[in-house]
Amino acid sequence: MIKKYWKDFISLIYPNVCYNCDVALVEGEERICLRCFRDFPLTQYHQMDPNPLIQMTSGNLKVKGAFCFMKFNKDGIAQKLLHELKYKNNAPIGLLLGEWFANYIKEEIEKAKIDAIIPVPLHKSKQRKRGYNQSEVIARGLNKITGIKVINDAMIRTKNVSTQTKKGKVGRWQNVDSLYKIEKNKDIKGKRVLLLDDVITTGATIGTAAEVLAESEVAEIYLGCIASGK
Ligand SMILES: [Zn+2]
Repeated sequence: MIKKYWKDFISLIYPNVCYNCDVALVEGEERICLRCFRDFPLTQYHQMDPNPLIQMTSGNLKVKGAFCFMKFNKDGIAQKLLHELKYKNNAPIGLLLGEWFANYIKEEIEKAKIDAIIPVPLHKSKQRKRGYNQSEVIARGLNKITGIKVINDAMIRTKNVSTQTKKGKVGRWQNVDSLYKIEKNKDIKGKRVLLLDDVITTGATIGTAAEVLAESEVAEIYLGCIASGK
């Protein structure tokens, strides 16, 4: 009974219509109707050889795989949902994205035996402004489905500058350790980790973070993102 009242209360705050097409949702659908859900522009990158996501982000030998949920199209569903997460203070949508993503790549991350998820960190001033790190919220969603722990404090963003400015042809990965830093004594030694970002556009941000992470004692690195502009 209480559960029902709670549900009614929640539906007052979040009307039960599809985020994407405004059709009324039915039992079992969360935020997105089944029809729109089926139309998600899935990437299948992890089934391609070579994997386009690895090609655009990293040449590092520790990077063993990469997963991306959806293609990032202008005004597409991924852009809409990530905009909600990043600029409208809608953390629940981030959790859901993480859960959906986890279900999408569940077999692969089991095969890879991933031990931990490391969200790409934000600079602390940016995180304070937003209230949370969107990649961490997505990571919590992944954790909910897979049980893989989220390690939040192993990596720190030291500078609040755009990685895009580092995207020169020559010095693409130069001075990377000035952007991110690995915290010593965090339990990542010998681990297979999934480095997780919300969106990959040029690949510079996650590529830079992966380079720094690869210099630590992690065993293997996998890259993950909700959407990619490639
Ligand atoms: Zn819909």
